[in-house]
Amino acid sequence: MQKKNIVDIAFDQRHIWHPYTSTITPLPCYPVTSANGVYLTLEDGTQLIDGMSSWWSAIHGYSHPKLTAAAKAQLDKMSHVMFGGITHQPAVELCKKLVAITPEGLDTVFLADSGSVAVEVALKMALQYWHAKGESRAKFLTLRHGYHGDTFAAMSVTDPDNSMHSLYKGFVPEHIFADSPQCGFWDEWNEDDISDFANKLAQHHQQIAAVILEPIVQGAGGMRLYHPTYLRRIRKLCDDYGVLLIADEIAVGFGRTGKLFACEHANISPDIMCVGKALTGGYMTLSATITHKKIADTICSGDAGCFMHGPTFMGNPLACAVANANLEILEQNLWQQQVSDIEKQLACELPAIAALKKVKQVRWLGAIGVVELHQPVNMAQIQQAFVNAGVWIRPFGRLIYIMPPYIITPTQLSCLTQAIYKILNA
Ligand SMILES: *Cc1c(COP(=O)(O)O)cnc(C)c1O
Repeated sequence: MQKKNIVDIAFDQRHIWHPYTSTITPLPCYPVTSANGVYLTLEDGTQLIDGMSSWWSAIHGYSHPKLTAAAKAQLDKMSHVMFGGITHQPAVELCKKLVAITPEGLDTVFLADSGSVAVEVALKMALQYWHAKGESRAKFLTLRHGYHGDTFAAMSVTDPDNSMHSLYKGFVPEHIFADSPQCGFWDEWNEDDISDFANKLAQHHQQIAAVILEPIVQGAGGMRLYHPTYLRRIRKLCDDYGVLLIADEIAVGFGRTGKLFACEHANISPDIMCVGKALTGGYMTLSATITHKKIADTICSGDAGCFMHGPTFMGNPLACAVANANLEILEQNLWQQQVSDIEKQLACELPAIAALKKVKQVRWLGAIGVVELHQPVNMAQIQQAFVNAGVWIRPFGRLIYIMPPYIITPTQLSCLTQAIYKILNA
């Protein structure tokens, strides 16, 4: 039965900006009225199998009873209270959990409101650290094809071509970009892969406050899955030169790659780590930047006497309560089997797609599947084709990729891969 339209699409198209869109030629938007498990329900009643987890975040699916219950219970107590001079159980519990599950030594938590802000905080920590040590180091070393967010400092360490740095010349500080890794996750390691990074670090280390990178998976900058040895070499080089290492786990943290954190593939611990996206299971925005007490104490021994940051909604109790419920679901450890099953199925089903003419390469890791094409897609057209096929997959450029909720069933996952196959074969 056709339901009455409630979402005013015409107003949306005329007055509302969506991510990375033009007001001159707005692309179609699909009105979603509810979401449950792996399904998004459109206004006309169409149900779509979600292949995106709403950009890596809804790892346990939508409207999860446990997460919803946690939000409701917290609402009845308090949805927000300032974090200056006040603390509360949801935040303390969350930070306790984060210290327990993150790589060794990370024990001091700064709660922030979004991924980009967590990155800003990490970069500020690194700058204040060196300032406190009496060294002026204002450069960051990062990788091409990286993505760290859309705010200015985050953008400055994001791939300059993808983020159109040239547009913001004079505003975006210039940092140092090393060649991105070429060795794929499953390839044989080639020592040459690290040479550009090693040379740049050797050349500039006295100016470099920190290296910042996405461990193992470069997400929005190209969906590239790289070799753990690359990351291991970087940890060693940072140690050798005394440069801090910031791991941006915002996309991949909380199980997505088959490890709880992608750093675990290389058995390394960063000096500073950012988490976000899946932290609340996709319920609301929350992020954290976690470092070592020694680094935090050094920062606070400087002129400022403290770390100079404090967002209004820092440690939002509602978000923390949902994050706690999310981490409790992860603690039950079903995710490992779920992600490993997804990985096995992608390994079975993606190679058939690789045989198609339009396809350059397919790759996968954990609950991430990527189809790289020779040519960019026509967004409006392919998006409609996916919706017609009953799936929600949102490509960008030459990349069609899926990172479904961990609870997806084999049949539902096949619907995603078959939709990609059929549409690319048409
Ligand atoms: C999404 C993302 C960010 C930015 O997070 P927002 O919540 O969108 O600000 C930063 N780093 C990585 C690796 C991301 O995937």
